[in-house]
Amino acid sequence: MDAPRKRRLEMAAGAGVCAASAFMAWAVRGRSSGVFGASVWRGRRDRPAVALTFDDGPSESTPAILDILAYYGVRATFFQCGANVERLPAVARQVRAAGHPIGNHSFSHPLFSFQRQRFIEQELRLTQEVIERHTGQRPFWFRAPYGVRWFGVGPVQRRLKLIGVMWTVIGYDWKLKADAVVKRVAGGVSNGAILCLHDGRELRAKPDIGVTLEAVRRLVPLLLDQGFRFETIGRLICPTT
Ligand SMILES: [Zn+2]
Repeated sequence: MDAPRKRRLEMAAGAGVCAASAFMAWAVRGRSSGVFGASVWRGRRDRPAVALTFDDGPSESTPAILDILAYYGVRATFFQCGANVERLPAVARQVRAAGHPIGNHSFSHPLFSFQRQRFIEQELRLTQEVIERHTGQRPFWFRAPYGVRWFGVGPVQRRLKLIGVMWTVIGYDWKLKADAVVKRVAGGVSNGAILCLHDGRELRAKPDIGVTLEAVRRLVPLLLDQGFRFETIGRLICPTT
């Protein structure tokens, strides 16, 4: 084979590998990917409604979030880790008692990539049981830790009758300052947007969520002023009106 042709073939093969790995990256982490399990990442665009979601709780600071939501009379959806619910069952009950649905965010917040289906199933099934035992509510919704889906997540979701929920906008509230989080979320919001913030920090006890609190204090009135309603994930995805 002549050298230029060989080089062209090598480049084409390289491009194929790149395309395949870009596809895998999207399949695993892409907010709109349903490759490894059905998931939603936004609601309808014709209603001025958004859903505020919180991951990684419950934590010692979750009640402070509940206070802000109660002040404005808005509901959110909380994706809790089973291990955190076992650590702070009273806080999980408080979330439920305030009328906020609770979703499954795995038991120990692992990365699901390269994990066996049996491990994924144990993580999700145990969390369903722990949340139901402590709050009386069995979750309908599941958010993958780090947004990472993998082989096995889809079948497990189907067996446990869980619908995956990604996000339209993620606040990076675990690493940005409150100003930047507000700017990012307010800048990305639109009809039907699912907003992702964190009332915990993975499995950490007494995490500092000051940035999240400050962002929520500013974002809720800001978005209400812009005419958005806050809805639970269930209502955002399946509106009855
Ligand atoms: Zn998380």
